[in-house]
Amino acid sequence: MTTNTFDPVRTSLFIGGKWRNPSTTATIPVISPLTEQQIGSVPEASTVDVDDAVTAASDAFRSSQWRALSNADRAGCLRRFADALEARAEERSAAVTRENGMPIELARFAEGAAPVQLLRYYADLTEATSSEERRTSQPMPGTTLVRREPIGVVAAIAPWNFPAILSMFKIAPALAAGCTVVLKPSPETTLDSYILAEAAVEAGLPPGVLNIVNGGTDIGQYLVAHPGIDKVAFTGSTAAGRHIGRVCGEMIRPVTLELGGKSAAIVLDDADIDRTVTGLATASLLNAGQTCYMSTRILVPENKYSTYLEAITAMASGLPIGDPLDPNTFVGPLVSDRQRRRVLSLIDQGRAEGGTITTGGGRPDGIDQGFFVSPTVFGDVDNASTIAREEVFGPVVTVLTYDSVDDAIALANDSAYGLGGTVWTSDDERGLDVARRVDTGSFGVNTFNLDWGSPFGGVKASGIGRELGPEGLAAYQRTKSIFLTS
Ligand code: NAD
Repeated sequence: MTTNTFDPVRTSLFIGGKWRNPSTTATIPVISPLTEQQIGSVPEASTVDVDDAVTAASDAFRSSQWRALSNADRAGCLRRFADALEARAEERSAAVTRENGMPIELARFAEGAAPVQLLRYYADLTEATSSEERRTSQPMPGTTLVRREPIGVVAAIAPWNFPAILSMFKIAPALAAGCTVVLKPSPETTLDSYILAEAAVEAGLPPGVLNIVNGGTDIGQYLVAHPGIDKVAFTGSTAAGRHIGRVCGEMIRPVTLELGGKSAAIVLDDADIDRTVTGLATASLLNAGQTCYMSTRILVPENKYSTYLEAITAMASGLPIGDPLDPNTFVGPLVSDRQRRRVLSLIDQGRAEGGTITTGGGRPDGIDQGFFVSPTVFGDVDNASTIAREEVFGPVVTVLTYDSVDDAIALANDSAYGLGGTVWTSDDERGLDVARRVDTGSFGVNTFNLDWGSPFGGVKASGIGRELGPEGLAAYQRTKSIFLTS
């Protein structure tokens, strides 16, 4: 499919399986990060629209069209949804690239192919898993029937950095479990979810099973606290996650929080320099660093500091930067002017606190339009400084030194966050030993690849709960134990 079906001006909302007029005339502009110009707009949902979306999801949850489906029938539904999305994959990837500046080759995988794979993974998993299990009762005679039931109506709140796949981290397991969903995309990335909704219609998803409301913080807050919601699944900043966690705590409402990170790359003394530095381009700077699990604190042995600083500087300064629709581009513009200003302000702070910039630090030469920031490398940084502690969410890495492996692990763990991280070594056993000792929800040895079948999430300020794998399905189920005499 070609990309010329891109429709950047949308006027309706997807609620209850229908395209309907919004209840107000408020709109959200779609701004191109490449040209800084408005390229489209979508309606902004009001609280009335959110009420309608929650009612539609609640009705769908109770309807026999959805609730009475067997696991196999629901799996069939997910597979039809996957097929319909697959047919629109190129269109959706290009929409994301135009919205947030993600390099198109990355978008083709992460935003086009991956959501389809995830739907198929959860279709297979739910078909292979029974919702009921008999256990021998103790200490009394008899048995217990343990049922896994869908939690209900899910509020799914997504960020702008990987909008399609991070929405699907929630939608696929929620639907597989038998829940229904109200999705609130980020205001920066709304257009791609119209393609998601169109695919849901094409796939014959029952009305109300998926609903989409556009809006910012206010609409997000209203949705999270809505009495009709049974579970909140959120990916975004730690600040917003704290707020959502407080609201859900007050309401005793289950919540999954996938939040920020400041992960470390531990480069061991036996690592191959070229392979390591090539790997770090993806592990530390993917999507212009706007990826939650980036290994942005690069810890290298003290006696190899200058060699690594030079090699990482050369790697970062050589990354192809430019139009994200060009398949050769590795670094596109940042998502927004707001994000660019935030990144530049943290770079200024890093400089002011004594860090030395060896490449980057501002707008790339020869590019005078777009929200670009050059890949930036900091040396002479202390792990206690702001640039080593705060999540930058831009193309910025710091190179720090350690004097022993224990010291490296202590530095990696000396962070408020605990999301990802990597170790680079020629000895996988040494790598595994380090991986076991770092306090994060996931970790990579000479790589960092998400696996649809294994849990992903954070510890400490990086979040609560897990997405992906069977654990991700369980997050949308509640158990009920039925005690029987036989
Ligand atoms: P953000 O927190 O500003 O917004 C995320 C989403 O939440 C948006 O849809 C926003 O409108 C909504 N929102 C904001 N405040 C809210 C509130 N109080 N109540 C309800 N909804 C609210 O984050 P962002 O700038 O869009 O995304 C970047 C952040 O997301 C980074 O910190 C990054 O690390 C994090 N992130 C984490 C993961 C992960 O899996 N751990 C993945 C990607 C991004």
